[in-house]
Amino acid sequence: MRMMDIIAKKRDAGTLSGEEIAFFVRGCTGGEIPDYQASALLMAIYLRGMDAAETAALTLEMAHSGDMVDLSAIPGVKVDKHSTGGVGDKTTLVVGPLVASLGVPVAKMSGRGLGHTGGTVDKLESIPGYRTSLSREEFLHIVRETGISLVGQSGNLAPADKKLYALRDVTATVENISLIAASIMSKKIAAGADAVVLDVKTGSGAFMKTLESARALAEEMVGIGESVGRATVALITNMDTPLGNKIGNALEVIEAAEALQGRGPEDLTRLSVELAANMLLLAGKGTLEACRGLCEAAIRDGSAFEKLLEMVRAHGGDASYLSGPERFPRAPVIRLLEAPSDGWITRMDCARIGTASMLLGAGRETKDSPIDYSAGITLLHKTGDPVKRGQPIAQLHTSSEERAADAQREFLEAVEIGPERPAPQPFVYARVDRDSPGLRKTCVKQG
Ligand code: URA
Repeated sequence: MRMMDIIAKKRDAGTLSGEEIAFFVRGCTGGEIPDYQASALLMAIYLRGMDAAETAALTLEMAHSGDMVDLSAIPGVKVDKHSTGGVGDKTTLVVGPLVASLGVPVAKMSGRGLGHTGGTVDKLESIPGYRTSLSREEFLHIVRETGISLVGQSGNLAPADKKLYALRDVTATVENISLIAASIMSKKIAAGADAVVLDVKTGSGAFMKTLESARALAEEMVGIGESVGRATVALITNMDTPLGNKIGNALEVIEAAEALQGRGPEDLTRLSVELAANMLLLAGKGTLEACRGLCEAAIRDGSAFEKLLEMVRAHGGDASYLSGPERFPRAPVIRLLEAPSDGWITRMDCARIGTASMLLGAGRETKDSPIDYSAGITLLHKTGDPVKRGQPIAQLHTSSEERAADAQREFLEAVEIGPERPAPQPFVYARVDRDSPGLRKTCVKQG
């Protein structure tokens, strides 16, 4: 087989066979295929597209290009959750303990934040002592003992995706729905999931800016999951306003703990219950309605919060910070921002609010930037709220007046105040599952 022929076939709108896709992925991982040929094929795929069978084959090949996490020693259906990323998105910290408290094991590897979106691992590391880097044995031991482990990605997970993503990033080939879907699903499959719940965000703070593109990505990922034998559900959710009222690492941990104690903001609590209920459904715990009820009861009776404390202790973290959040160090500079005029908050540009949080020190500009765990934003008002000129709308938490000034500019430019009350926004736009129309499914045999 020659790479040149594979490139020519896709250039001419042909359909690649499983063997050709395997040759490409294995050659890239092993270094036999040079970057210029891999890039040429990526561009041909970007322009010509892939059908469902090609996309599923690419996903499986990338998943199998490195370590495959074996969760078979943990009894029960292992359901993973993935968010395409947003501002203030701390749902994993709520959903994980919630689902685990109801007897569904959670063995989850999460990422770090980059740019305007945060990462679960950074949030967890704001809890003193919490270890996110564990051996595979320790990770599985904690899941067996407590029902949940949330850690960073370890080992050699889907190296082909890492390599191809780096090439896509510099060859203008990221924005292809099949390539994005294969990239995300390959990592979920390699991480050992039996089933997957996807939170596909849409809006000003999301990777997918429009509902149409979010729906296309959701359908593609559900189609891949179902084609490779992983039951998959996607919720398409709102990222036109930050999720919850707190943005920043320790601040988000505090808010997640509040939500698990029934004191969280409504949007965060409702979305977390919806995601958790879908995970329970895939784990066979009952109908969606029944699973919502189970989640609400676990929050009410304290068992979900207790599971968070248990998980934190199992990872070496000091759980007293979660019961007594005043123990978290306070940022030395706290600046109150006031509404510049009377009216209604009609829009919050989420990406810019994420950038403001990054400027305060809560996020990374490059992958090696340090993080200030106490930095971030507390939103006192959000889209749809009436405000009066001079009324406080947000608190900035940071380490210096200079940072506060930069973030203040960014934040105030991100918030629009108008004379009319805006229409309320839904939390969840749509749910995509195996029965949704428009899904591209195929049948893939796995070795
Ligand atoms: N996130 C991923 O993991 N892969 C992509 O291709 C895009 C976003």
